Amino acid sequence: MKNIKRTLFLCEYCKNNKINKFLIHKKIYICNMCLLELDKTHKQYQTITNNKNYIKKTKKYIPKKIKKNIDKYVIGHNNTKKKLSVAIYNHYQIINEILQNKKKKINNIKSNILLIGPTGSGKTLLAKTISKILDIPLAIADATTLTQAGYVGDDVESILSRLLQKCKYNIEKAEYGIIYIDEIDKISKKHHNISITRDVAGEGVQQALLKIIEGTISSVPIEGGRKHPLQKCISLNTENILFICGGTFNGLKNIIYNRLNINNNIGFNHKLIKKKNIKYNIEYQDLINYGFIPEFIGRFPIISKLNKLKIKHLKKILTKPKNSIIKYYKWLFKLNNINLIFKDEGINEIAKIAIKKNTGARSIKNVIENILFNNMYNFGNNLNTKEIIIDKNFIYNKNKLKN
Ligand code: ADP
Repeated sequence: MKNIKRTLFLCEYCKNNKINKFLIHKKIYICNMCLLELDKTHKQYQTITNNKNYIKKTKKYIPKKIKKNIDKYVIGHNNTKKKLSVAIYNHYQIINEILQNKKKKINNIKSNILLIGPTGSGKTLLAKTISKILDIPLAIADATTLTQAGYVGDDVESILSRLLQKCKYNIEKAEYGIIYIDEIDKISKKHHNISITRDVAGEGVQQALLKIIEGTISSVPIEGGRKHPLQKCISLNTENILFICGGTFNGLKNIIYNRLNINNNIGFNHKLIKKKNIKYNIEYQDLINYGFIPEFIGRFPIISKLNKLKIKHLKKILTKPKNSIIKYYKWLFKLNNINLIFKDEGINEIAKIAIKKNTGARSIKNVIENILFNNMYNFGNNLNTKEIIIDKNFIYNKNKLKN
């Protein structure tokens, strides 16, 4: 725009407007109407190429590299991490192919993923990590707040509006994003917490979600929540959005044991079968018996089971991840000129206390907060404290925590 100055020539673009002409560079004359039009096209072109570049970036991540990067943040769950890496790689390779060869019709069978595992085992963390590694927008939603249209609660489209908000309303970017839906087991037909404010059969939410998971042009309310006729909506194509759903699926084991005829055998069999040692696969039929409609569950070609975290995992979670909890507290204390030192026995005790709370790795932060609360309360007060050593003695004696 710096070189623009007024002239009286004919617009070289529309060959029509004689007034309001502008000179661009040395020889091209263009009217301001055409200038605006070109600017718009240029911006649209830029968005498309930007998105192409952004998706292209995913190309450099082969499954092994994705797994290696997930390892930096998520402890354990080796098999799930491998499955996720392959699924993510395939998903974005297909999208790259669609973007590059627009005319080619590719039947994109999405690699949607279902994660089944106890609370605090890292299901949400896995989705967050993938989004972080590949720099792909992620929206996290809770299935328990969703309701069938016409009932009290949020429409399923509110999940899409969350993704749009995450992408600052860049529609193209949102159309290649990831959506993580937590507590998906709570929308099964047979779930005992079924609520009449959600939908009578408990199937309506599954049907509504099914549409956006399999791919549709959805009319998304900009502000989210419940749709109403006067609300402004944006059209969003969900065909290439990757869906990861997670849930604890309490009671699923019993369904599997029934299928394997194990429940009946225990007690009658001479050899007592230890349920703990039984290895099993989760079949679609088990999830249908759990209360999911076949069409819905069929949209998840990848199902992975996360095991309950053990003490050894919690110990690693405390120290190993790139953004580990211990690194965080050391940093926090350093800001107050205090060296925080965690002894191995201290880490061991923290993991032991946390595992008793039965909420996986979630309780770790709470345990450390309790241990360090008094010291943090004295931040800025006790200027003589230069070092704090966290060992067994510190945890139980100084803070009077119960073993
Ligand atoms: P879930 O979704 O399975 O209930 P989250 O992913 O929300 O569990 O886990 C809660 C927190 O616990 C995470 O933010 C993370 O700090 C920690 N965490 C859980 N599992 C792991 C893991 N496998 N590796 C590292 N940190 C973990």
